[in-house]
Amino acid sequence: MIFFGTGSANIASIKTRNITCQHCKNEDTIYINIYRKHFHIFWIPVFPFIKSGNSFCSHCKQVLKPKEMPDQLQLQYKNIKGNVKGPTWQFSGLLLLICLIGLIIYTTGRDKLNTKLYLSEPEIGDIYKYRVDNGNYSTMKLVSITQDSLFLSLNDYEISKRSRIYKIDKPENYPDTYFGYSKHEISLMEKDGTILEINRD
Ligand SMILES: [Zn+2]
Repeated sequence: MIFFGTGSANIASIKTRNITCQHCKNEDTIYINIYRKHFHIFWIPVFPFIKSGNSFCSHCKQVLKPKEMPDQLQLQYKNIKGNVKGPTWQFSGLLLLICLIGLIIYTTGRDKLNTKLYLSEPEIGDIYKYRVDNGNYSTMKLVSITQDSLFLSLNDYEISKRSRIYKIDKPENYPDTYFGYSKHEISLMEKDGTILEINRD
């Protein structure tokens, strides 16, 4: 399946001034058409890259490529082609990509801020995503808080991909046995990257 390629849009159709058609000898019947090509992926225009065009006589229908135009007409063609701006939709894919990157940066930043906040003000039920020594990932659930310690129930399961951690974060996976950590230990684990993220419903 071909999922990328190029498309083209007619971005302007402008009447020339004081030009006589060489073919039918009528004056002011010639229009300049300007096209802009864009690159597309899955039929979403990503960005435009080249403009082209021709002249068209509305009377005799003669179409001329830029090379074939007499000097006067070619001059007007170049002027129009230089000045005309294409539509923004030819940048859709690029704009979409920029929005997506912005969203990722925003959510990553927000997750980091939340993790810091939840670390300094823990609440029962917080889920700690962490890296297991063997390279897998798992979670712990905060079940009790004292002045200087946190008690966590360690998930019975581990998973090899960080992006799939949500699959094992189920209430029935947290046993009734708890492990106590000092708040200092927990903050060190966050600093050295063992604790990846803290989530709260
Ligand atoms: Zn003509």
